[in-house]
Amino acid sequence: MAALWEDVFSNEELLEEISTVAVDKALLMGVIMRTKENPNSSDVVSFAPITLLPSPVPRTLFEQAQSVQEDFNLLVDRISQNPSFLEQVLSSTMKVDDFIKRLFQIYRLVVAEGLAQSVFLGINRSDYMFDGREDGTTALKQIEINTIAASFGGLTSRTPAVHQHVLKMLGLTNEARNILPNNPSCGIARGIAKAWELYASEKYVKSRFIAVCDVHCAVWNEWMEMGGLTSPAPRFRDGHEVAVVYFRTGYVPQDYDEQDWEARLLMERSKAVKCPDVATQLVGTKKVQQELSRPRTLEKFLPDEPEAVARIRQTFTGLYTLDMGTEGDKTVEIALANPEQFVLKPQREGGGNNIYGEEIKQVLEKVKHGLERTSYILMDKIKPQPVKNCLLRAAGQTRLSQCISELGVFGVYVRHGDEMVLNERVGHLLRTKAIEHEDGGVAAGVAVLDNPYLV
Ligand code: ADP
Ligand code: MG
Ligand code: MG
Repeated sequence: MAALWEDVFSNEELLEEISTVAVDKALLMGVIMRTKENPNSSDVVSFAPITLLPSPVPRTLFEQAQSVQEDFNLLVDRISQNPSFLEQVLSSTMKVDDFIKRLFQIYRLVVAEGLAQSVFLGINRSDYMFDGREDGTTALKQIEINTIAASFGGLTSRTPAVHQHVLKMLGLTNEARNILPNNPSCGIARGIAKAWELYASEKYVKSRFIAVCDVHCAVWNEWMEMGGLTSPAPRFRDGHEVAVVYFRTGYVPQDYDEQDWEARLLMERSKAVKCPDVATQLVGTKKVQQELSRPRTLEKFLPDEPEAVARIRQTFTGLYTLDMGTEGDKTVEIALANPEQFVLKPQREGGGNNIYGEEIKQVLEKVKHGLERTSYILMDKIKPQPVKNCLLRAAGQTRLSQCISELGVFGVYVRHGDEMVLNERVGHLLRTKAIEHEDGGVAAGVAVLDNPYLV
């Protein structure tokens, strides 16, 4: 396969021709995004950035990522039901990270009042890279799990058709058949529908689903109009209740002004099924991820499932606390001695927030004696073997680059009271970026969409 791909990359004329074919197919399939220049315009769109050819992914690691997803769904859901664990793990972070503190205040309040809803909907995406080892083998290592606004379930349902078409046009019909079908959006919709059905079945109500999107003030206004401050079951003007609230935003401080915080509190207190509820959002923090890597912690949440524990633990790489105390002091020391081996991570989402290399030294030197260091965790840097690909972007920025890929697996679950009524893996996402970028997603203009080609 590598040789076939190389034939394309080394033939400039063919490369240009087939790039046009790929872009046309992307447009045709609706693999499109708004542009950076006109971010609010629906009239001006372009194709979403994509690789020209699918990137190789080891079959065994792809299957491993699939097979651990239901375990991760269960784990996230179990942790979200354990306030004392979350309180203990996030207590130091909260002191220095105002965003986490505000989310936690909402969480404490709804726990103290008693949760208004017994149906829970989780839509997450666990992301991995393929760590290259000295003996030439590769291992699946988790980067993080996203428990709020896990994105690209829609676009990635449409990208297989692009690569299938490109390979066919290159005369690689058998290879085209190897592109896996993928439809996370279908599974995600099934989860939302299930949550809605359970909400409505408790009593006869006319109900709907709302998605909290980027226009934050509008959401607050809408919510106040529907529910006001008093109603636990907010209604639209036509009498429909809000059954499910899906957060497509709300995961970074910039998403909130004071009104939005108020709206978030009202949503959490309401009877609507929240996807995610604030507890589940907190489970997705890097700090929780780091604490889970401690011995015996996974067992606490999955006491009867040693195999699930083993599957999950196998995907963990080294994660280190920066809490105050000797353990955190040691973390500072190892990071300062070898910054190239690590990634320093704050409790933020959306890409572009992590710290690498020499900058780790600068940041740690500044914060190492104070509480501020506890807003970060340290993680082993995963080093995948680079592979050549051609990255197609709008405005003709086609580039041949050495690339690394990140595989995401989407998980969906619904719990009703104590019963898990749905627990599924529903599809995958492959994003690929040139090796010169340490960080940053598709929206940030760094990574591009891709499909796994299993090898
Ligand atoms: P975010 O929530 O902002 O997406 P991530 O933990 O996914 O945060 O980090 C963002 C990006 O940084 C990842 O997509 C990946 O490219 C890179 N990255 C994160 N952790 C590591 C790691 N341990 N090793 C190598 N690269 C990493
Ligand atoms: Mg994330
Ligand atoms: Mg990420």
